[in-house]
Amino acid sequence: MTAGDEFPERLRAATSDAAVVTDPDMMAGYLTDWRHMFTGQAIAVLRPGSTQEVSALVRLCAEAGVAIVPQGGNTGLAGGATPQGDAPQVILSLARMNNIRSVDPVGLCIEAEAGAILQSVREAATAEDRLFPVSLAAEGSATIGGIIATNAGGVNVLRYGMTRDLVLGLEVVLADGTVIDALRPLRKDNAARYWKQLFIGSEGALGIVTAATLRLVPRPLHRSVALVSVPDVQTALSVFSHAQTVLGDALTAFELMEAAALERVETHFNLTLPVQSGAWYLLIEAGSTLSGLAETSEAMLEDVFEKGWATDGVVASSAGQADHLWALREHITEAEAKSGRSVKHDVSLPIAAFPAFLEAFGTRLPEVEAEATPNVFGHLGDGNLHVNVLLPKEADSTGVMRLVHDLVHAHGGSISAEHGLGQYRVAEWERLTARAEQVLLGRIKTALDPQGILNPGKGLSIKEHKAA
Ligand SMILES: Cc1cc2nc3c(=O)[nH]c(=O)nc-3n(C[C@H](O)[C@H](O)[C@H](O)COP(=O)(O)OP(=O)(O)OC[C@H]3O[C@@H](n4cnc5c(N)ncnc54)[C@H](O)[C@@H]3O)c2cc1C
Repeated sequence: MTAGDEFPERLRAATSDAAVVTDPDMMAGYLTDWRHMFTGQAIAVLRPGSTQEVSALVRLCAEAGVAIVPQGGNTGLAGGATPQGDAPQVILSLARMNNIRSVDPVGLCIEAEAGAILQSVREAATAEDRLFPVSLAAEGSATIGGIIATNAGGVNVLRYGMTRDLVLGLEVVLADGTVIDALRPLRKDNAARYWKQLFIGSEGALGIVTAATLRLVPRPLHRSVALVSVPDVQTALSVFSHAQTVLGDALTAFELMEAAALERVETHFNLTLPVQSGAWYLLIEAGSTLSGLAETSEAMLEDVFEKGWATDGVVASSAGQADHLWALREHITEAEAKSGRSVKHDVSLPIAAFPAFLEAFGTRLPEVEAEATPNVFGHLGDGNLHVNVLLPKEADSTGVMRLVHDLVHAHGGSISAEHGLGQYRVAEWERLTARAEQVLLGRIKTALDPQGILNPGKGLSIKEHKAA
């Protein structure tokens, strides 16, 4: 990997010493992904302090033909922020650009730089009695640029949509260094056509997000959180349907967890499950600015017990208890990481297809890998489950991944609901995505990044278009 020994010096001259890191010890943490699945090489880690510095650095990289791997909090689960391949490349970390520029509680929006930590943005909104709804277990490290680039979901999608639905304005640096400043906090802006949507979910392959204006919502003053156990996924769907009927818009989260996933949380963390005797558990949250929510939620749960759907359950009676129930859910990913090697699948399906899909998965998995252990959990209300599989060290993960993705394909689903393709899923995406769709995306990539220097090897590639 080379772009000439003097290349980092040229980058420093155009920005500052703080913006260009070449010390191998200081670079190490940026070169490996959160799951420790991928480690890449880079000439330098760039840490610009402003949009102008991002632009200057991108311009120099474009001139030298050096690829750029954008990175936020490096919590992505698909290896998208880790360099791939031997081509000369740099990591461009947005971490220093972490200012929250303004909060407007009347216009319901917040403007933040790409490196702002999701949790800080949520706290800044809360301080003004507003809510930024994107919430996920990695929010203490994940950044605004990262959630936009991955179109992150999280636990409130059911009510507020994905990140895509919450971006009003964007500032983006294109592959040639051009800055597009469209941070306008407008809800209605047909003059801007649809271009902003192209960057949301493009995993750093079309441009570098440097700032965004995000939509806020009124903060629900009343909250109801319950954990119930059910015997099977079909029953979980009955509970979901009933919760929607009774709670309507107030229903914010409907999470499904396999019993074994929560047992792993109890094993690895000091957290106790207050509900017993279920094969599956449901975490149900409702929120409202209006009073009467507690009574409505309790009535809904009473119905669920009367109908014989739930086997056990608890309603949080304090904010602390509600946080405890959520902590059980949010530690599943880390408990899985502590349980050994796993192959992750982040799938979405039409919700009605989940029982048939999971039954086929349960039957076929032992045929493919006798010692595989499923770890299934996720956002059932959004039709998105993480159908993860723990595997012995020496087992081949390819067959398991193909099995899950083939079943997803057969049931009309998607192999990447919210985590993105990164480098982890790109081969599977190519295997299962219609050629015409790949060519279309290749054309968009070519139009925006003709040299192919933005995040090569991650999802969007120009090779399909060129080959077509
Ligand atoms: C414990 C845990 C729980 C998680 N739960 C969820 C969940 O519920 N829902 C969910 O959707 N995700 C979840 N994730 C995944 C991850 O947190 C999200 O994908 C998050 O959006 C990544 O943000 P980041 O700043 O860490 O991005 P990074 O990991 O740094 O980067 C992710 C991708 O975005 C690109 N990128 C980053 N910043 C920019 C930028 N400024 N401009 C252009 N491209 C950029 C990178 O190149 C890469 O392709 C979880 C992760 C962990 C570790």
